[in-house]
Amino acid sequence: MDLWPPLLKKRRSKRVKNDSISELPDALILQILSLLPTKDAFTTSILSKRWQYLWRSVYSFFIQCEDKSQTKNFISFVNYALDKSTCSKIINFHLDFTHLSKYESQLKFVDDELLFPISRWLSTAVKKNVENVVLLSDSYDYESIDLPDTIYKCSTLITLDLTRCTFNDEFFIDWKFLKTLKLNDLKLQDDIIVKILSGCPALENLEISEFYGLSHLEINSSNLKRLKFEDYSSYYDEFDHPSLDIIAPNIQHLEISEDMYDLKCRLINVSSVVTAKLNFQMSCTSIAKGASSATCPDEHQVIRKLVQDYLHKLKNTTELTIGTWYTEVLMQFEEMPLPELKCKCLTLDLRIIKFYFYGAIILLKASPHVESLNITMTTTLMDHGRCAFELGYLAKEHDIYFLSSFGFPNLKNVKVFSSSKMCLKGNIEWDNDDLLKLSEFILMNATVLEKFTIISKRKTCKICSMKCASRYSLRLAEKLAGCSRSSTTSVIICQEGASRY
Ligand SMILES: [Zn+2]
Ligand SMILES: [Zn+2]
Repeated sequence: MDLWPPLLKKRRSKRVKNDSISELPDALILQILSLLPTKDAFTTSILSKRWQYLWRSVYSFFIQCEDKSQTKNFISFVNYALDKSTCSKIINFHLDFTHLSKYESQLKFVDDELLFPISRWLSTAVKKNVENVVLLSDSYDYESIDLPDTIYKCSTLITLDLTRCTFNDEFFIDWKFLKTLKLNDLKLQDDIIVKILSGCPALENLEISEFYGLSHLEINSSNLKRLKFEDYSSYYDEFDHPSLDIIAPNIQHLEISEDMYDLKCRLINVSSVVTAKLNFQMSCTSIAKGASSATCPDEHQVIRKLVQDYLHKLKNTTELTIGTWYTEVLMQFEEMPLPELKCKCLTLDLRIIKFYFYGAIILLKASPHVESLNITMTTTLMDHGRCAFELGYLAKEHDIYFLSSFGFPNLKNVKVFSSSKMCLKGNIEWDNDDLLKLSEFILMNATVLEKFTIISKRKTCKICSMKCASRYSLRLAEKLAGCSRSSTTSVIICQEGASRY
């Protein structure tokens, strides 16, 4: 096949006059074409004789299969585009099949018809010294893509982002220049990750999400500085009491986010971490897997120790982000010791509709060195079910004496961020708001406070069709303006901003 059939007719029938883009030099046009989806870049071949072959030199491929009924055409097109490609080096090779599952959720979306071509396309990219590869897929049937042998030896790779792929039983990796590796939605046994890490000595950034099967992760490379875990796939793990030990003495940035279900992630050695984000939630087995609640209080004992241990292991970090679930567990620490945290910049990522004021206060009490406090209103976590044991300690009354026993000796800046992604209409007139309580408490006890800034996004809320976040922020600022402050020079600022920070 010399020309991909659907465009043959169009090329003969369409002609365009010279325009400002056509006056650009080839190299610049090529740069623009390399930013486009490959289908669009190819379509420019119909514009004129000059454009006819230009697309063949693009060095980035963004290929998305959108419609299962067009699979045959899609395969023909990608085969054609790669066969005609004249570039010697592919910078980006991006294969995206996520759209298919939206239309064909009950069917195998990447079926045998596609699996072979995917493997061949990846091999072609490897031959062309590809640097950055993204392979995205998504489905309900848990179909995964076998990585072709050639990709294991692709030593030109710099970033690799794999979703739902299977590593061969026998594989040897040679990714000597790989800097970033993202592994999403796949089974990761301990021996697989050992083999992967031993094959990428230059790796700086490792992100693992929607994973299962991993119980031990040891990273000794001094190059690897960033480690991120997001979402554990509890459903697929065969272990009844899953745990993951992390030994990574050289990493500097650690993040654990989203739903970890019943996975007990233990930080054995993370002694070099300077910034940490613990924005995850866990459930006891009675909730996560619907098991009997007979062992539930014992399990919460383990979770409580785990949470305490995290703060011990991360007490020397300078920047710390803590999520709502974490502050909920801290509600049990009113009379229990927590280590003194050295952190200077603390971010509380709180579910603003419902968070527990006391949990946040207990953490603040352990953080006397904090100079900047960010309170972000998040909507990222689902309101997961809670067992009777959790509801018990969350409902506990707290003594007011606890609040008078500490202050904020170093706190200079507070920023409260509200997002337009959530509707705050119901909170505008709410006088018993935990954020208001927390803000008042900070103003009353922060002796060197300089600025208390409330930032809301400009956009109109899609749910209530008004600027509810701005109105909520304004009301909060008004209420705080009238409350007593221990720093007489502090100012309260209310502003609209485009970004969260
Ligand atoms: Zn429980
Ligand atoms: Zn709203």
